Amino acid sequence: MKFAELLANQLPTAGMVVAAALMGVMLVLLLGCDCECGKDAPVPEEGDKSVEARAAALWAKIQSPLSAEETRVIRQQGTERSGPGGYTNADSKGLYVCRACGSSLYRSESKFHSGCGWPAFDDEINGAVRYLPDPDGARTEIRCAACDGHLGHVFTGEAFTETNMRHCVNSISMLFIPAAIVDEYTKLRAAQSDQ
Ligand SMILES: [Zn+2]
Repeated sequence: MKFAELLANQLPTAGMVVAAALMGVMLVLLLGCDCECGKDAPVPEEGDKSVEARAAALWAKIQSPLSAEETRVIRQQGTERSGPGGYTNADSKGLYVCRACGSSLYRSESKFHSGCGWPAFDDEINGAVRYLPDPDGARTEIRCAACDGHLGHVFTGEAFTETNMRHCVNSISMLFIPAAIVDEYTKLRAAQSDQ
């Protein structure tokens, strides 16, 4: 073999150059980089978060100050607009707690579809709800027994379910804790309340 042919065999072909460049890109992708590009990574979906992270996020929401609309309903006995929004049509298994203080109020097993446009429950968790007659005597207001936050009104004698009782509750007064998170949420709340 002549020297020139030997040299030509040793020189990289265009294909080899492209392959080497691709390998370099793959190496960076595999090993990551120190640049700022990761900051634009999409926020993980709920399903990607750990139970601990989801419970912590719910507890943080309870500890955050009430919004203007939450204050109007919870602290000033307001009523949110009725409709299919909020928890009205929610069917997921879990626990409904007080938005203002985090106390357990209702289990999803007590929730039913009343058609009234607000979430409806036919029973509360024992001792969780306080009953007060409205000043006009026509209706009975329900409040969180722990923090006195306004929940809504209770109606009886409508024969919706066996308990013959309908707690008509503003979605905004509650926070839903999915069944998979309940244990962790309860643990976290107990630990934080002890401090
Ligand atoms: Zn409360």
